[in-house]
Amino acid sequence: MRITQATLAFRIFLNNLRPMETCDTPACQSAREIFRELEEYYDEHNLYFQTIGSVLHAADLLDVDHKIKLILSQPKNEIMVHCPVEMDDGSWRLIKGYRVQHNNVLGPYKGGIRYHHEVKLDEVKSLALLMTMKCALARLPYGGAKGALKIDPRALSRDELERVTRRMTAALGSNIGPDYDIPAPDMGTNAQTMAWMADTYINFAESSKKVTARGVVTGKPLEFGGSAGREKATGQGLVYVLDALLPGMGMALPDLSFSLIGYGNVGSWTGRLLQLRGSRMKAVMDHTGAILNEAGIDAEALANYVAETGGVAGYPGAEPINEATFYSTPVDLFIPAALEQMVDLQHAEQIQCKVLVEAANAPTTPRAERHLLEKGVEVLPAILCNTGGVTVSYFEWKQNRQSETWDAALVDERLQKIMHQAAQRVLEMSERLDCNMRLASYAAAIEHIAKVYEVRGVFP
Ligand code: NAD
Repeated sequence: MRITQATLAFRIFLNNLRPMETCDTPACQSAREIFRELEEYYDEHNLYFQTIGSVLHAADLLDVDHKIKLILSQPKNEIMVHCPVEMDDGSWRLIKGYRVQHNNVLGPYKGGIRYHHEVKLDEVKSLALLMTMKCALARLPYGGAKGALKIDPRALSRDELERVTRRMTAALGSNIGPDYDIPAPDMGTNAQTMAWMADTYINFAESSKKVTARGVVTGKPLEFGGSAGREKATGQGLVYVLDALLPGMGMALPDLSFSLIGYGNVGSWTGRLLQLRGSRMKAVMDHTGAILNEAGIDAEALANYVAETGGVAGYPGAEPINEATFYSTPVDLFIPAALEQMVDLQHAEQIQCKVLVEAANAPTTPRAERHLLEKGVEVLPAILCNTGGVTVSYFEWKQNRQSETWDAALVDERLQKIMHQAAQRVLEMSERLDCNMRLASYAAAIEHIAKVYEVRGVFP
């Protein structure tokens, strides 16, 4: 979209009008400087401003070329679609969708598609930026993207979901493709959503490209080109990261206690896999309520209960608790695995844990993170902890391209190697720059991206 002089003047007027100088952290200063240069409107409470702030702060610590900071500070493409969809009762709805393609210097864009009724463009931009960082940190041959449909998937029938998914895929058209931009499941979407997307895309593909066309999405059902281990991948990757990092903090997996926010794909797999390794799940909270059992909640039984009922509330093997009790329950590991920015300063003051492990994307506000670090809690960042999902997505894409099928043991072995290497990179960077794990993980990602720009050059 072309920005008119009047729009620009209005944005600058807004920037000058608002009391913006409240945040004087290096992250805010780095982001403010770049946004002013780009004459972009900013709000320090905005998730995108906060996310890019930390990334730019890490870039400053590395002293990377200014053009790299400029390039990373905005996505390459922001696509918006509106999908007319007929509901089961014969009424019509116009549903808004986004696909943000942040950066593709390392390879095709890659990132999930989220279905959520409150989704906003800046949230999708933040998640796309995090995907760029994640793929670079794990050295996957991908750039970063993210997409979303503004719907509540729980309020739609299966037929309605299928119609809107196919319509969105058609609307995205050549903006996605196995060599260009490869979506995957995220909140509110699953293997079935990916199967509908792939089927729609294959129907449009030229006959010579149909064989590899199903690689347009990952996270597909096993019978339709999915990979062994994809469903549990994000939780499994997180466990491998803990294996690599906890010993350095004087801890190890068996006998640790943990609590979880979110018991969907990521939360429930993390719970089950940690339980398999001998740890105890004390408390869980989701959109239906919070539960506690000091002796341990059976993660497998809770997963079955949630599959039947839709949430953790009413689970018979634990006591119902309120939100404040959930946050203040003492645990070794506190694991947010639901929405962004759920852990704010007030929650950080309540939390009593040794390590906060970010399974969700951007679950901790900058103020909350500062408070946790000050009180001695280690914070393991999302771009390291939840990279298992995109890594096994990469394995799926590779198998689709080569018409191969890997067994679960091979997937786990390769995932473990990539997660351990990524954790090692973060540790080394944190020692080199004498900084926290979040800054170190961004710095390890940016250093790689900057090197690739250096050898490729910036077109033209
Ligand atoms: P999901 O839809 O399977 O589960 C989401 C969970 O969040 C549910 O348990 C839901 O009850 C809970 N939740 C929603 N609103 C809540 C609220 N207000 N309070 C408490 N809980 C609430 O989603 P998912 O795939 O497990 O994704 C969770 C997070 O992990 C997201 O941030 C997502 O971006 C991130 N992530 C997912 C993957 C993946 O492979 N699925 C990979 C990387 C990162």
